[in-house]
Amino acid sequence: MSGKNILIVEDEKPIREMVGFSLGRAGFTVTEAGDISEAFECLAHQLPDLILLDWMLPGASGLELARRLKRDELTRDVPIIMLTARGEEEDKVTGLEAGADDYITKPFSPRELQARIRAVLRRSSSEDESGLVRIEGLELDTESHRVSANQTPVEMGPTEFRLLEFFMTHPERVYSREQLLDRVWGRNSFVEERTVDVHILRLRKALSPSGYESMIQTVRGAGYRLSSRV
Ligand code: CA
Repeated sequence: MSGKNILIVEDEKPIREMVGFSLGRAGFTVTEAGDISEAFECLAHQLPDLILLDWMLPGASGLELARRLKRDELTRDVPIIMLTARGEEEDKVTGLEAGADDYITKPFSPRELQARIRAVLRRSSSEDESGLVRIEGLELDTESHRVSANQTPVEMGPTEFRLLEFFMTHPERVYSREQLLDRVWGRNSFVEERTVDVHILRLRKALSPSGYESMIQTVRGAGYRLSSRV
């Protein structure tokens, strides 16, 4: 769970810094944004594992941002926890309807926030608590960046690792080259689509001694998917 990237969008600097500091100490990597445009800059650079989103932001409400993020294919799967000063049931419902995964009422303790974050991250990912993702005999450790196939270590480059991590945490879904570039390389990267093909080939090659290369499937006219079915 540690090492996860959290984006906090909060205009009140003392709260933002307090949250950033305590999550940093708990082992999370924290990016801070003071408003919505800063939030979009951060999102274009790197997709976080979770977004902490303040309800009241200058210019637009956090609620509007939550709706936008859930409509955008790139950010749709990123879980959101809303930070709110109000605790009314109606706000909670509105926030959850906008696509937030949970919400926490200010003032909150760092411990309470961490517990919520861990719970949401666990629900939204296929990882277990130790950061392991497993599909059949293929195992990927998101914390130590190790891959093994039937207990035998598999060597691969950093890009192949990120590609495999993305596929294993989003199995049985087809992604186009463009979507893979967005999700694995970042929306701001200036990489050609055929680069994806190159890394897919390398990933298959790394997996081929174990026979798991057949899980990285080409879907004609659509893109690639990871599937344990033939
Ligand atoms: Ca605020």
